[in-house]
Amino acid sequence: MSEQSIETRCVQAGYTPGNGEPRQVPIVQSTTFKYDTSDAMGRLFDLEDTGYFYTRLQNPTNDHVAAKIASLEGGTAAMLTSSGQAANFFAVFNICEAGGHVVASSAIYGGTFNLLAHTLGKMGIECTFVDPNCTPEELDAAFRPNTKCVFGETIANPALAVLDIEKFATAAHAHGVPLIVDNTFPTPINCRPIEWGADIVTHSTTKYMDGHGACVGGAIVDSGKFDWMANAERFPGLTTPDESYHGIVYAEKFGQASAYITKATSQLMRDFGSIQSPQNAFYLNLGLESLHVRVPQHCKNARAVAEFLSTSDKVASVRYPDLPGDPYRKLAEKYLPNGSCGVVSFEVAGGREAAERFMAGLRVFAIETHVADARSCCLHPASSTHRQMTNDELVAAGISPAMVRMSCGIEGTDDLVADVEQALARV
Ligand SMILES: *Cc1c(COP(=O)(O)O)cnc(C)c1O
Repeated sequence: MSEQSIETRCVQAGYTPGNGEPRQVPIVQSTTFKYDTSDAMGRLFDLEDTGYFYTRLQNPTNDHVAAKIASLEGGTAAMLTSSGQAANFFAVFNICEAGGHVVASSAIYGGTFNLLAHTLGKMGIECTFVDPNCTPEELDAAFRPNTKCVFGETIANPALAVLDIEKFATAAHAHGVPLIVDNTFPTPINCRPIEWGADIVTHSTTKYMDGHGACVGGAIVDSGKFDWMANAERFPGLTTPDESYHGIVYAEKFGQASAYITKATSQLMRDFGSIQSPQNAFYLNLGLESLHVRVPQHCKNARAVAEFLSTSDKVASVRYPDLPGDPYRKLAEKYLPNGSCGVVSFEVAGGREAAERFMAGLRVFAIETHVADARSCCLHPASSTHRQMTNDELVAAGISPAMVRMSCGIEGTDDLVADVEQALARV
């Protein structure tokens, strides 16, 4: 399929019905699967045959949708997870255990920051955070002998920092570890990190991929490019026998193209659960069918809103990677030539109270903690997600009390700009 355009793959990849079979991906609403003999089922448990036995590990609906996402990202294998958080946890934990170390960009989603900084720490995995704009030498200095992977976000939520993927991939590979990139905000329509050297790509499919605010979900895609055997001592989980699977060596038995996802499925999904429900995978696939149509409209709307904001005297500052003069403009030109995402952040002149008045005046944008939905929404972190903090604490956390995060949906551009204009007039 991969020689077809990304538009065609959004619509058709991952599922090709045979003669007389359903045109739409069937929802296999079944926890379990029937076999004629115990021996036939035993071969599945030994990973000698491929097939389905229990939906906690794998389900055909999920596999069709995961195959579509693998195709869109240019990977060799993929799996769906119950959430973006589960995807990032599995992506790291699949190759990292107690005693291991992760290097991560400091500009990442708050939930992922907590996972890496606190929760993985309780499991004996340490993380060193680096400024995404650090020099190659500073990045190099963050590595340790026990480093297992590097983590970053193509466009950070909510900082809107663009990752220099090649810089991070070069450093990771020089130290014999893979680069994991969370590509939630640009989606594969605007950036495919594997083309720039990323080895593993993750998604919160809750955002643009679903795109309709319907289902929480996640995905992990393997590029199949990282040579585990060449770095065998660093990744014993993939390169030495798995005693919980009769001594299988994943990298030998399944090869570079599918060892990583097979291990994540047969070990982590087996032991931690976190499967996406087949019903949610079906909805996710409906979202993916129009991803290539929706993403450009999100970007068009965000660009128009950002440009309008940058001309208003009621606005202190605007951040959007496509704006001339944005600190990430150069990186966006390189990695996101067709546009970045639908999210714009800005500071209302007049501080926290002015921002609250602006939010109260909006009619089309709704106040939500969500982003990347077909419906426009917005958030004032200082009065919601971060409301327990004082103004001084907010500034220390890099969040201005007057900062508003706007997630531009796919409504009419003029309606969104007009809504922002009338709400600013009330400030
Ligand atoms: C929302 C988000 C997540 C977490 O995903 P959930 O589906 O909410 O668990 C991870 N990374 C990024 C970039 C996100 O925006």
